[in-house]
Amino acid sequence: MPRKKTIKTVVSPKKTEEKPKKPIQLLRGMKDTLPEIQDVWDYVRNEVEGLAQDYSYSRIDTPVLEETNLFTRSVGENTDIVEKEMFSFIDKGGDHVSLRPEGTAGIARAYIEHGMLNQPQPVRLYYWGPFFRYDRPQAGRYRQFHQFGFEAIGDAQPIIDAQLIVMCFSLYRKIGLPVIIQINSVGCKNCRKEYEQLLIDYLTPRKKFLCEDCKRRMQKNSLRILDCKNPECRELIQDAPQLVDHLDEECKNHFVKVLEYLDETEVAYNLNPYLVRGLDYYTKTTFEIYLEGKENDSQAVLGGGGRYDDLIELLGGRPTPACGFASGIERLALSIREKEIIVPTAPKPDVFIAQLGESAKKKALKLVEELRQKKMKVSCNFSKDGLKNQLSLASRLGVKFSLILGQKEILDRTVLIRDMESGSQEVVDFNRVYDELKKKIEKIQPIIQNNHRIGG
Ligand code: AMP
Repeated sequence: MPRKKTIKTVVSPKKTEEKPKKPIQLLRGMKDTLPEIQDVWDYVRNEVEGLAQDYSYSRIDTPVLEETNLFTRSVGENTDIVEKEMFSFIDKGGDHVSLRPEGTAGIARAYIEHGMLNQPQPVRLYYWGPFFRYDRPQAGRYRQFHQFGFEAIGDAQPIIDAQLIVMCFSLYRKIGLPVIIQINSVGCKNCRKEYEQLLIDYLTPRKKFLCEDCKRRMQKNSLRILDCKNPECRELIQDAPQLVDHLDEECKNHFVKVLEYLDETEVAYNLNPYLVRGLDYYTKTTFEIYLEGKENDSQAVLGGGGRYDDLIELLGGRPTPACGFASGIERLALSIREKEIIVPTAPKPDVFIAQLGESAKKKALKLVEELRQKKMKVSCNFSKDGLKNQLSLASRLGVKFSLILGQKEILDRTVLIRDMESGSQEVVDFNRVYDELKKKIEKIQPIIQNNHRIGG
């Protein structure tokens, strides 16, 4: 019996399987601002720019990276921001640098460095940009976030504080958010020194009831105990002496004046004797902005500000009084969403250009530019070749008219104008496209130019 031949199958050595590469993800606490939310950001940006124009504030942009000393000197060595939250490193040249955790310090530096003291005072500046704090991320708190802010540098009058509060309040109201201002005065360094001693005298026999952070604060920055969120510390503080009762004459008068001015306006405000804010440079007025009904939620604070009369001098400039406020944009955007505020959407294109075939594609490329130069908003998609696909995209974009360019149109030097609603099509001479299209658009919306937003 013939033996069965056994066929040896040679198994080729298994290729070592390449592990799929792990996608790189966002750093913790960082956030992408996706296209879907840009309408909300644009809305806020437009309102902020409008406010700046109305009150003659000029835009300033300072670098995100500054010498670390700028923040230790201004924000304060013993503040949470400087102690725990700064992204600091030594650069290749050996300099100690930090990503800016807030905007006022950089602006004060720029004011000194560019001799703005010689300009008419107050110098009114506003900014918008990213800031960085290495904080524990949670809803409404990120490691990179954005703020806009307004600073009036070079005027000590209380009416400046009041007007900044009015501006801030009316901005939120205009955006559609019901807000309330909390306000306090932290006095100047003289009245604060006296008060801090009183506070320590009050707290020393009660120290064991304080949280660990506040025990430390007693040594370094006792004022911060006033706005500790720990319930036991809060209870203790209820009976502590209040800073407003220990202001010197000048600070008291200043505060009374600010309140008197505010009483002349529509600003809804509450006095909050515990409002000291987390930055050391504040003097006299301090204030924060809350959504109505969320006054007790420290995570819901939308913005804040106050006077900083000593900061410029502290940074090496001549004594220069100043006042300002900053607002978080992410929290503002979240509130806009929560309150379902309708924001203007990006304007729809006036026309969609559909093309079939290579020569039509070339012609379409040129036509897009020609119409765009005549201020028409044109959309097209060169990645799609089929007419059906292109027209359905045009419908999705909400475009009223499409231009169709195929082989025949190229030969005849014509274009089809398609009314997307009725489906009717009209052949027009290539040189008459703009005029015919403009006529049609104007019939449904009088002047097409008005459909464009500034900068759009
Ligand atoms: P501040 O400079 O701490 O007074 O903050 C002003 C505003 O910036 C706050 O009210 C928030 O709206 C916003 N903000 C501050 N820190 C953060 C953060 N880590 N993430 C998001 N927004 C922030």
